[in-house]
Amino acid sequence: MSQYETVIGLEVHVELATKTKIFCSCPTDFGSAPNTNVCPVCLAMPGTLPVLNKKAVEYAIKAALALNCPIPSYAKFDRKNYFYPDLPKAYQISQYDLPLAVNGYLEIECDGVKRRIGINRVHLEEDAGKLVHSEFGDYSLADYNRGGVPLIEIVTEPDLRSPVEAKAFLEKLKSIMLYTGVSDVKMEEGSLRCDANISLRPAGADYFGVRTEIKNMNSFRAVQRGLEYEEQRHLEILSAGGELVQETRRWDEDKGVTYAMRSKEEAEDYRYFPDPDLVPVIVDEAWVEEIRKSLPEMPEERRQRYMAEWGLSSYDAEVITASKAMADFFEAVMADYHDAKTAANWMMGEIAKHLNAAGIEINESRLTPAHLLELLKLVDEGTISGKIAKTVFAEVFASGKMPAEIVKEKGLVQITDEDAIAAIVDRVIKENPKPVTDYREGKAKALGFLVGQVMKLSRGKANPELANRLLRERLDSQQD
Ligand SMILES: [Zn+2]
Repeated sequence: MSQYETVIGLEVHVELATKTKIFCSCPTDFGSAPNTNVCPVCLAMPGTLPVLNKKAVEYAIKAALALNCPIPSYAKFDRKNYFYPDLPKAYQISQYDLPLAVNGYLEIECDGVKRRIGINRVHLEEDAGKLVHSEFGDYSLADYNRGGVPLIEIVTEPDLRSPVEAKAFLEKLKSIMLYTGVSDVKMEEGSLRCDANISLRPAGADYFGVRTEIKNMNSFRAVQRGLEYEEQRHLEILSAGGELVQETRRWDEDKGVTYAMRSKEEAEDYRYFPDPDLVPVIVDEAWVEEIRKSLPEMPEERRQRYMAEWGLSSYDAEVITASKAMADFFEAVMADYHDAKTAANWMMGEIAKHLNAAGIEINESRLTPAHLLELLKLVDEGTISGKIAKTVFAEVFASGKMPAEIVKEKGLVQITDEDAIAAIVDRVIKENPKPVTDYREGKAKALGFLVGQVMKLSRGKANPELANRLLRERLDSQQD
């Protein structure tokens, strides 16, 4: 790649979590029976008129402020004309030359390098319906439940330099949207969708190469893979002296390739013009300030606070604050716990591991801060060992039962009784003459094996420090 530089820009659509649609009072619920959340307005019956949902504007401004955008005092809606059955009006109400917000930025960190990615604009628009292509014949079914759901489109500057950076940007964006609460940002339910533009240019050039747009990437991983594929395709064509075609391409997740859909349309193809049914939006400065004040503490501020207040490392604080749900959980634990590092290790270790395996977020699991608190206290009091705690946690995660209950049920209480452990130690010494001799001949490593045997015989319940001490005492004294 050394002689070429990759240039990537993203267009991200985020569905706003308003209760009702942007221009009518239909509910926005996901998963309702087809065509039940519809009315004459969102079905574009003649004579109906749109009325702007103030909450949608508030959420859009909130998102834009979180992306460091200034908010102009004047915005308007335009019609984007195109003919497709998912769009009953045959135009989409969107924003063209005067969007709600422009010129923001988002800072990302990739491989330890911080970069500021420009946000070209954030505009408000309505979503289209959904076509369900029949598997039984040559026809499609139209579901207009989604038609009129408020969306913001976030357009970045072409500031991203690699597919990995694109993925990091999306992760940061998702985190920010979740913090602000303007969207639930579920890619699998379509509340976050992303298209990407990519081009290559000679390293150091100040012009752009021919770009292609990629659609149909349905996860952050797919965005990265789709861009990697296109990056390679561009590189091969350019290296062979060929010419790229500006076009829109579709990512095929199963085959791992993109293929041409259509040549890219230009803005003039949509014949944008101001929507005469809607008055311009005059944004009151005092209202913007009110929204700004309602913004919660953002991940970066939280990260700084975790480092200052609890002495967490920058890395630990970053990992925990990346997800608002994780950070909220952590704070609830710390309200009643003293050791931030231990709590953080659990969050980033066992908890993250089980969540990843189950493919869910912490607020979708049965786990509560009370579970972790009780588990940590059981370890601190010496009731169970750290190792047993992991076994208990797996059970907590699966069943939602309290740790103390599981420890009791399964008889997992740590053995701290010296006589009980001493009996096991004696047996281990008797049954393992070779390692015992090794240890006495100065092979310190053999002790680890013997401690392991004590733990094994006690089914992990022996207090490890005690086992270690007793074993050492016995081995050293009998040597004399
Ligand atoms: Zn409606």
